[in-house]
Amino acid sequence: MSSIKAPRGVRDILPDESWKWEYVFAVTRKAASDFGYREVHLPVFEHTELFSRGVGETTDVVEKEMYTFEDRAGRSLTLRPELSASMVRSYLENRMDRQHQPAKLWSAGPMFRYERPQKGRYRQFWQIDFEAIGSQDPFVDVESVELSLEIFKRLGLSNLEVVVNSVGCPVCRPVHKKALQDFLRPRLNDLCETCQARFDRNPLRILDCKNPSCRALTDDAPGTISCLCEECSEHFEVVKKGLEMIGASFRIDNRLVRGLDYYTKTAYEVLSGDLGAQNAVCGGGRYDNLAESIGGPHTPGVGFATGVERIVLTMEQQGCSFGEAPNIEVFVISADGPSREEAVRALYDMRRAGISADIDYTGRSFKAQFKAAGGSGAVFACILGPEEVASGQVTLKDLRTGEQKSVRRAELTDFLKTRLR
Ligand code: AMP
Repeated sequence: MSSIKAPRGVRDILPDESWKWEYVFAVTRKAASDFGYREVHLPVFEHTELFSRGVGETTDVVEKEMYTFEDRAGRSLTLRPELSASMVRSYLENRMDRQHQPAKLWSAGPMFRYERPQKGRYRQFWQIDFEAIGSQDPFVDVESVELSLEIFKRLGLSNLEVVVNSVGCPVCRPVHKKALQDFLRPRLNDLCETCQARFDRNPLRILDCKNPSCRALTDDAPGTISCLCEECSEHFEVVKKGLEMIGASFRIDNRLVRGLDYYTKTAYEVLSGDLGAQNAVCGGGRYDNLAESIGGPHTPGVGFATGVERIVLTMEQQGCSFGEAPNIEVFVISADGPSREEAVRALYDMRRAGISADIDYTGRSFKAQFKAAGGSGAVFACILGPEEVASGQVTLKDLRTGEQKSVRRAELTDFLKTRLR
């Protein structure tokens, strides 16, 4: 029988990598709290309707990428492909509109999208998501960009580019849609099949096509900014001014329309110059109509999500620090027989005294145990053989310097505490 492997597009995050994730979470958690965002834990699956109505029927995510299944009672459920729709659902359901506005919330966890896997693109991937719900102030958009940049700065990331656009609102979007369709109509037959299919339903997404010939054909297509209504235009001006105020260097990209339909006004991405094809480390924007599309009252909101795998990849590529790898402090080396029990007792004593310690459980030779101690990253090897037990001593070897010292067993934990702290 062949052994079972993980499904395509998912990864095990093993100990050599998971401590790096912990570092990213710790830095992010602190930045979130410094900016007044509070954490929520959201369900991994939701009613399918939340995403089909919230994210948009004609988006790639909803049309092709969702993991949808029926539960035993015949309800259609979907593994979340993103977090904004869930966050807004939770805001509405838990009447967070009664609290101080905007509700500034963050959440982290795995997302699921049936995409073609490649480096930096997986079918299960982790996002950290930040949403400010309940304010239309353009300075909240600016704060959202600022928070993403602050997190990346604290993580030591460089070579990043901020791209910004305004995708308008239900007032100006039809104007743009018509202008875009007028421009595209004579070129329609030369566009790829996907773009042709989008022409009637969602022509805006044609601007997002990665096909080089479609890109060339739409080079001079009217962008959203040229059709903004007065309100969206004013909003965009304040956002740009705010970004200048925070010293963010940004580029306006008229083609940036993002893959999710709910965006209104501001849309932005932070791109890394070190990621290759999947170069977005973060994406976000304003979604003033999302709440209504899932059956709530009009509730403006703005937010962004960043991908943990891509952050870690970029940090590795740029040689950023992840802090110190968590290692145990003491590795206990013991012999078979009565001294073994004494060694285990010493292990427990150390742990109770707050010293992190481990021992070999595979009955290996002294030599192999020394090797394991060296590989464990421990600072000290604590040797407890028959001689040590007979004399009421332990031998401590500093694994960094090779220096060896006998210490009275009764003084072991006190001695280690002064040497380790
Ligand atoms: P989106 O929700 O598509 O705007 O994505 C927000 C961020 O999540 C992106 O900038 C990426 O960092 C990350 N991301 C999106 N899709 C994937 C994926 N399939 N695999 C890994 N990371 C992803």
